[in-house]
This record gives sequence, structure tokens and C-alpha cells, in this order.
Amino acid sequence: MSLNPVRPWRNIDRRPSRRIMVGNVPVGGGAPISVQTMTNTLTTDVAGTLGQVLAAAEAGADIVRVSTPDEESTRALREIVRGSPVPIVADIHFHYRRAIEAAEAGAACLRINPGNIGSPERVREVVKAARDHGCSMRIGVNAGSLERHLLEQYGEPCPEAMVQSGLDHIKLLQDLDFHEFKISVKASDVFLAAAAYQALAEVTDAPLHLGITEAGGLMTGTVKSAVGLGFLLWMGIGDTIRVSLSADPVEEVRVGYEILKSLGLRHRGVQIISCPSCARQGFDVIKTVEVLEKRLAHIKTPMSLSIIGCVVNGPGEALMTDVGFTGGGAGHGMVYLAGKQSHRMDNDRMVDHIVEQVEAKAAELEAARAAQAQAAE
Ligand code: SF4
Repeated sequence: MSLNPVRPWRNIDRRPSRRIMVGNVPVGGGAPISVQTMTNTLTTDVAGTLGQVLAAAEAGADIVRVSTPDEESTRALREIVRGSPVPIVADIHFHYRRAIEAAEAGAACLRINPGNIGSPERVREVVKAARDHGCSMRIGVNAGSLERHLLEQYGEPCPEAMVQSGLDHIKLLQDLDFHEFKISVKASDVFLAAAAYQALAEVTDAPLHLGITEAGGLMTGTVKSAVGLGFLLWMGIGDTIRVSLSADPVEEVRVGYEILKSLGLRHRGVQIISCPSCARQGFDVIKTVEVLEKRLAHIKTPMSLSIIGCVVNGPGEALMTDVGFTGGGAGHGMVYLAGKQSHRMDNDRMVDHIVEQVEAKAAELEAARAAQAQAAE
């Protein structure tokens, strides 16, 4: 629960769920909502895959998933796990041997539907491998690949059929006394995914992995994911998220973080508050923000920056941000620090100056955090 006694309308009461571990990352049970992505290189290309894993981790990914469709991939997985700074999830479809190999190779989690891998004996073997190697699992129900008997029973992919599919897979694990799993019920349709997750949230305490699958390209997929995941997260539903985009995995991580940041559920890096700009603007707001987003991408410390074209909204926004710049003068604007008017700055030097101010503020916040941590020891 994120309690905000001053602004209760910002509170999100998170659905209680039990906690599992994906490697060293807790999922559920009130843990911070983790951000995931998936590599799109061939897993057998260890260097290429590790390159994507590192880039995603640098952008803030807490967990990264890789496909392991064949034995060569599970062999490569060992090296990928060794070189990765974040837990690796192995994506398995149907082949139970791949699951066992992935667990042995050090995967932190197996994305697998136990009902799809054949005999009860195979399920038992996979669960044993997961248990022996400290692996959790993710049951991944997808509206596009529901079991035939459920489609016949329900007529089409619908929330009830998706939840039933999830419960059937859950039962197979629970019957073996295995509870280290999370579950997803993804669909490319926002209504279907949202209804399925809401219904699922009522019938299990397992942590939920949220996603709008096959959401589309960077722009359309971002909007769709923000609507679907944003709605569910606002309802308090969801313990880990993956934004699925036909785009670089780093973009998925960025979008995931932005969704969480906009709901106050995670904080990372500089949150830029900027106006759309209009004829009143005292400088080129759009270009400035574009440049600043790039130049401040390396800052991981959570903080806020307002870049506002004129005094109509500038001073008000600056009151609530760590660093602010408001245009309005002839060729210059006003810099605000910690919500207070500080000094004038020429427009043509303001980008470098703001980067310096933000870096200084980040260093100050980090030093304060380190001192606090030391005092608590
Ligand atoms: S803050 Fe000023 S420049 Fe920005 S949109 Fe509003 S009126 Fe226009």
C-alpha cells in the first residue's frame, strides 16, 4: 500500500499477494513492482543476447527473459546467466527437457505452462528440477493459445476461459506442493486482458505478471499498454510487468518504468514535467525537452525537473519540482531550485546549465541517501 496522508487521492491499495523470488528479485507480497523485458536475439548468440540483457538492465530492467527453444539455447543460457547482472527467465514452450536444462543452467524462473508439457511424470520432473535449483515459475496464459477444450466450452477466448486455464495449470503445481509461481493472463485486447486479470485476482493469491501481449509498435503499443496496465495497476493489481512492443527491449523497459512512475509506483531517473508550448513560449520547449531527455538519461536518482515555456504555468510547476526552468524574459529564463526562484539564465546556455544543476542535485540526493543508510546501520 502506498500511503499518502496529505494527498489521499494518490493512494493505490495494492492487492495482497504472496511473495516469490525470481533470483534475488522479490515479486509480490508488497515488493516493488518489477519491470521485465525479453531479448529478441538468438539465444545461441551469447554475445548478442548478453548485449541486450546489459542494455536492458542499464535502462532499469529488474528481470530479463530469453527464449530457450532448443538444446543449444539452454547450453548458451548458462553463459548468459553467468554474465547477467539481473535474473534470467527461460521461456519454454512444450519441451519439458528444455525446462530441466534451463533450471540446471541457472535460470531464475521458468516461463512454462505445466499443462502443456505432457504426462504428470514430466510435470513432476520439471517441478523437481525447479525445486532443486531454486527456480520459480511463471504460468503464462495467452488468449491466443487457449486449450482447445476451453475454447469449445466457452466458444471463444473470454476472461472465464483464461482464468479457468490458469487455475488448471496452478492445480498441477499445487498438487505437487509447489507454490513458487506467478501467473499472467495476457491478451492483445485491452478489455479482455483487464477483465481476465481482474477475475484472476479474485481467485488466487499468486503474484500477477501483467502484460498486454502483441501490443504493437512503439507508439501504439505504448498507448495500449499504458491504458491496459495503467488501469490494472491503478486498481492495485499487478506485481511485475512486461510491456510488449515491436521495438527494442530497452524501449519496453523505458515504457514500463514510465507507466509505473506516472502512478507513483516506482521512481527512477528524472521525471520531466514540460508544457506542450504555444505562442507564449520564451524558448523552444519541444527541442529543449528532446535534448534534455537524452542528456539526462544517465541519471538514475529519482528526481523531478520542470521545463515550462512561460510564466503562465512555470512558477507553479517549479514549486513542485527539484529543478525548474521557466521561460519568459527576452532571451533568458528563471531557474528554480527546490521549488524556489534562484537565478536568471540565458536561453542559449540553459541546456548545459540545467544538466549541471540536475547532476548536482542527483549527487546531493545520493549523498543524503548514503548518509541515511549509514546512520540506519
Ligand atoms: S506554460 Fe506558457 S508556453 Fe507553455 S503552454 Fe502554457 S501558456 Fe504556452
